[in-house]
Amino acid sequence: MLYDALIIGRGPAGISCAIYTVRANLKTAVIGKTNSALLKADKIENYYGFAEPVSGKKLLETGEKQAARLGAQIIEDEVVGIEKEKNFKITCTNGVYEARTVLIATGAPVIKAPVKNLEQFEGRGISYCTTCDGFFYRNKKVGVLGYTDYAVHEASELLPFTQDITLFTNAMPLNVSDNLKETLSRFRINTLKIKELYGAETLEGLTLEAGRQETLNGLFIAYGSASSISFALKMGIITDGKSIQANDRMETNIPGLFAAGDCTGIFKQVSVGVGQGAIASRQMIEIVRKMKKDG
Ligand SMILES: Cc1cc2nc3c(=O)[nH]c(=O)nc-3n(C[C@H](O)[C@H](O)[C@H](O)COP(=O)(O)OP(=O)(O)OC[C@H]3O[C@@H](n4cnc5c(N)ncnc54)[C@H](O)[C@@H]3O)c2cc1C
Repeated sequence: MLYDALIIGRGPAGISCAIYTVRANLKTAVIGKTNSALLKADKIENYYGFAEPVSGKKLLETGEKQAARLGAQIIEDEVVGIEKEKNFKITCTNGVYEARTVLIATGAPVIKAPVKNLEQFEGRGISYCTTCDGFFYRNKKVGVLGYTDYAVHEASELLPFTQDITLFTNAMPLNVSDNLKETLSRFRINTLKIKELYGAETLEGLTLEAGRQETLNGLFIAYGSASSISFALKMGIITDGKSIQANDRMETNIPGLFAAGDCTGIFKQVSVGVGQGAIASRQMIEIVRKMKKDG
């Protein structure tokens, strides 16, 4: 199925964009889970149009109903990879989608893997990007740090390079969809808590809390969900390390790929996300209309 506008994120930024693209007659889908930052906000009283405080939950539910009523397709799923071919290819836990334009509105990246010495070995054995660095680990012994579908996806991306792959969950319960359970069987699984990473110039391995050491040539981090920064690393989107860099039209450096809301790190507020989503939609609508006109 080819979408005109595929929006990753069901928070205010993504839904706002969808409201505009769908009303401009673009075939629009919004993919995400129900874990917007706004769910944590009990009372919002600085958003336009509400005389009394409104809960974040209520704002989210109403916004999503509005977009769905207008014709946007809301898909409950998690995106684990984006690639640019002729169109964009969006890989999710439960399916693959194609789109002419994409908006990343995944909110602020939150989960930092809680492992000692991680930063010390970044770029020297620790990688956040299988697409970028998998090749360096041909026939080597690697680990993937994670416990979700995203981690399984990343481990699968390493299979063309090496079969020696261990998934380290760091004592987190494995949270993997049924359709990935068979893939999971291709990796060793280690569910023990990691005490620390060790090495000299480069990573050499990790020490488990139980005291045992595991030697490793590389460790790929895929902890929690794929964040805007994971997508950026894979696709070469320019960031400042924490947030995606978008211009005043919310364009990233990849043509057809936009970013809005907390993932741009500008001013993390509902009103800003809603505004940025609307701005991004203008360019997405223009691009799609031009593509269709040019055939
Ligand atoms: C406690 C608290 C109180 C706040 N109070 C206020 C306030 O009073 N006023 C105010 O204006 N703002 C407030 N905020 C900030 C506000 O919640 C955010 O600015 C706003 O929610 C950002 O919107 P967003 O669309 O960018 O991201 P989010 O609302 O965080 O939505 C992100 C979406 O992306 C999805 N997603 C993430 N990764 C993936 C993936 N890999 N695949 C698919 N989907 C993915 C998530 O499931 C979610 O649907 C508060 C925030 C918090 C935490």
